Amino acid sequence: MQIAQRATTPLLCLVLLLAIARAGLAHDPTAKRFQRERAFALAQALQNSERAPVEAAGAASCRLTIELMLGQTPQPVAGLVRVTNLVTGKEISFSEEIHRDKNWYTLAPRTTLTLPRAKLKVEAFHGLETGLVTREVDLTGKDKETLSIPLKRFYRAATQGLRAGNTHLHLMKLTHAEMDRYLRTVPLADGLDLVFVSLLRRIPDERDYITNTLTDGDLGRLSQGGLLFGNGQEHRHNFGPGGEGFGHVMLLNILKRIEPVSIGPGIMKEGTDGIPLQRGIRTARQDGATVIWCHNTFGHEDIPNWVTGLLHAQNIFDGGDHGTYEDTFYRYLNVGMKVPFSTGTDWFIYDFSRVYVPFTGELTSKKWLAELAAGKSFITNGVFLEFTANDKHVGETIPIAAGDELRIAGRAIGRNEFRQVELIHNGQVIHSVAAQLSDDHVVEDLEFKLRVSESGWIALRIPQNAGQNEFGKPLFAHTSPIYLTVNNQRIFRPEVARGLLSEMKASQELIRDKGTFADAAERESVLRVYREGIDLLQTRIDAK
Ligand SMILES: [Zn+2]
Repeated sequence: MQIAQRATTPLLCLVLLLAIARAGLAHDPTAKRFQRERAFALAQALQNSERAPVEAAGAASCRLTIELMLGQTPQPVAGLVRVTNLVTGKEISFSEEIHRDKNWYTLAPRTTLTLPRAKLKVEAFHGLETGLVTREVDLTGKDKETLSIPLKRFYRAATQGLRAGNTHLHLMKLTHAEMDRYLRTVPLADGLDLVFVSLLRRIPDERDYITNTLTDGDLGRLSQGGLLFGNGQEHRHNFGPGGEGFGHVMLLNILKRIEPVSIGPGIMKEGTDGIPLQRGIRTARQDGATVIWCHNTFGHEDIPNWVTGLLHAQNIFDGGDHGTYEDTFYRYLNVGMKVPFSTGTDWFIYDFSRVYVPFTGELTSKKWLAELAAGKSFITNGVFLEFTANDKHVGETIPIAAGDELRIAGRAIGRNEFRQVELIHNGQVIHSVAAQLSDDHVVEDLEFKLRVSESGWIALRIPQNAGQNEFGKPLFAHTSPIYLTVNNQRIFRPEVARGLLSEMKASQELIRDKGTFADAAERESVLRVYREGIDLLQTRIDAK
């Protein structure tokens, strides 16, 4: 399916992106970072690439039709393809196709490319479930050719009863036709089942936020071929254009837009800082929406809203680089909170980041989000995880008596090298197994007997610095926890609680100093969020 696009050459793209990044025209911190990183990635990729010949080149070019065949499915599928000219050693860039990092391109099913009449290498894969297949094709003296590439799955999430969602996506600086093409092609090529496209506001940049034009009707129209789109809004506050403020939350599957979408003069260039995120969060919850904290450590209202129990899940690695599991998840879990792991990609689908939850039957946003909020998830951009303890699954609670032995079984499987799989108990790595290459993928089984004497939680992950995926992104994979309780009591570490308490107190001070409030009532409405969080946590510390 070829859709007319602006005739933008990769070089022009690069010049534009560099200009945007340098001028800092986009004040969205994650948008700005995205554009900067994209510009560098593209510059690097293009350094090692040559442009595909234009069709008018006639005698010098060949039309190659590529079909990616997946398993027994008779129709070709969308996927990722990279073509290298074996004569020049350079990867080939295509101005008409959707460019991903490292000169990969997302191709619609059965795409015809104009290529040099030369010996070429074609690499291809689909989503996270197939091996990477390499084929050589000699187009010397040919004006057209068809290349059919069979792709083999080494893992099938659907037969494990899993569905993959990206909880955080916006697109900008595309035409409507380009957005349509992107949304119809990229998620399917990447093997996503569900994508939440969310509205966000910023003056004046929002005029370029093309996904803001999508209605629920449009999302329904785009939901085809086994792919579902859900709605949402990013509700947020920054101090200044991109500084840390109250934070960002994703409100997903909303009944109605919750106003104001963005809070404060930092983003909207008018008004005050006099509304906490918590007001919108409470409205969203009343409407039956799901609330996900975005960007991990970024923002001040995360701790009080987790303490108050108003957040359904937490995103990490969803645009930008904001802290580790240890900075947030492990601390919350060690004071007895239930924290489902979640992720997404924010600006464009620049990585394979997604969250898997078990799901049977017809996919709906509401039901998928309910499974996520129940903590049955794992997050990944490359490696699948399976994890049970005494045959209980992620999100479940196992009542134990001190001295009990847990039978833990885990498995990690992915296309890329990921070094090892790690068993986490109350935030510490207590066991790890090195990953082994097997055919076209890497797999490791972990079995462990854990004697437990206190309440806590266990989870499975791959390590930080595990390696990279095809886009050169650092690999990550982490399950949500299985919870362990003795006498129905959850873990509660007072020293961790005291750390959270002092962070809330520091936030309260900072906001009192930095915030612009119309009157005492506005100031109180914001500061009360922190005071209530502090009081709740203090009560729990005192009870110990
Ligand atoms: Zn966002």
